[in-house]
Amino acid sequence: MPTSAVPDLTLPPALRPQDGRFGCGPSKVRSQAVRALVDSGTAYLGTSHRQAPVRDMVARLRRGLVQLLRPPDGYEVMLGNGGASLFWDAATLGLVERRSQHCVFGEFSQKFAAAAGSAPHLAPPELIEAAAGRHPLPRPTADVDTYALTHNETSTGVVMPIRRPAADGLVLVDATSAAGAIDVDLAQADVYYFSLQKVFAADGGLWVALCSPAAIERIERLHASPRWVPSSLSLHLALESSRLQQTLNTPSLATLFLAVHQLEWMLEQGGLAFAAARSAAASALVYDWAESRPFASPFVTDRAMRSPVVATIDLDPAIAAATVSAVLRRNGIVDTDAYRKLGRNQLRVGLFPAVELEDCRRLLAAIDHVVAALTPM
Ligand SMILES: *Cc1c(COP(=O)(O)O)cnc(C)c1O
Repeated sequence: MPTSAVPDLTLPPALRPQDGRFGCGPSKVRSQAVRALVDSGTAYLGTSHRQAPVRDMVARLRRGLVQLLRPPDGYEVMLGNGGASLFWDAATLGLVERRSQHCVFGEFSQKFAAAAGSAPHLAPPELIEAAAGRHPLPRPTADVDTYALTHNETSTGVVMPIRRPAADGLVLVDATSAAGAIDVDLAQADVYYFSLQKVFAADGGLWVALCSPAAIERIERLHASPRWVPSSLSLHLALESSRLQQTLNTPSLATLFLAVHQLEWMLEQGGLAFAAARSAAASALVYDWAESRPFASPFVTDRAMRSPVVATIDLDPAIAAATVSAVLRRNGIVDTDAYRKLGRNQLRVGLFPAVELEDCRRLLAAIDHVVAALTPM
């Protein structure tokens, strides 16, 4: 919306969060982490990723993720450049053997399905779809060797259970907005992959994947097959580099640093139980608030499907959500806009573990204030 059309409304100081970042990625980066990065001076940024300071950081990330997510024995943490979007292409080349099945219930799950669907070396994928605001469940299919789930569909604010649909077949889980903030039993997944700019409060650019022995076996078997894979998309090369605490090519050192800072902070505070409880408490505030207001309602009607990290709230058609978001932005509260392609009169709020509960309360009071000011008498 043009700035001129945004009502000139100033929030009282008491309604302003200390930190007004409520985006779904990039999301709030804790100031303590940024300060620590600055304080590292000349010892880290601007130094070789093949030497100890950076390799130690990669090792801390890999070790910390095992502590946080407690995978069964034998799982390995891989990482590489390009984020979750690149991982879809890498998985299409290096993990799907002949045919994948995709639970499609929003933009992100749709994108992996599209990547697999356009691959000439694969059979057309099986799609199991649900309307926006709900999730489908995977089902066993004889010729499917890879099941693609999305732990938290960030575009709609829907969380799905992570459970193996069949004894055979790899289970790949896009956990980009879930990993580290929603409890999970990794025995139910073979590849649990994510970027670091959401729960891990870092910058974009890297993907991380916790891989089961079965997934590693598949990666190595496809690597040995005649299938051609460019080096930058090779999971075999990513695995070899990761084992050496490196990436195939230069990573963002800042992203590694910020993610490790956030990860170690979450571990100190109590690990996954702490992080999950914090996001759950914040989202409960938002959903309870929406249910108590005549002008708002949670978009996800089934409570079990409501995301604890991404709350999507529909507003009454008489109140333009885009205007509410624009007024909030003017007042330093940013990125509460709905996912564009969903096309609803909606606010979407990221409630990752870095967000303070008190800031969440102030956000809700600020929305009340803006809505009251925008509502014709
Ligand atoms: C943000 C997001 C992505 C995309 O991550 P990139 O790092 O931008 O590639 C993929 N899947 C989900 C569920 C996301 O929330």
